[in-house]
Amino acid sequence: MECWHCERPSHANCQFCGRAVCKTHTQEKPFLLHTYRTANGQYKAFVVRKAVWCGVCEPQSDPIDLKNME
Ligand SMILES: [Zn+2]
Ligand SMILES: [Zn+2]
Repeated sequence: MECWHCERPSHANCQFCGRAVCKTHTQEKPFLLHTYRTANGQYKAFVVRKAVWCGVCEPQSDPIDLKNME
């Protein structure tokens, strides 16, 4: 695979969209790995703090409604 930005060999893939990026063009973003609810009703999340991000795609912070899924 080649880097999305410069077309040199890539070192990683964006955690969010899968684009390939080289070390120069890799950026970092927190990645939400898993969420759960504690016994007293609190929501908690496991987050990877420096996940690989391509710098192009735009991970949304809020979930969107899905329609016509049936
Ligand atoms: Zn690059
Ligand atoms: Zn991406």
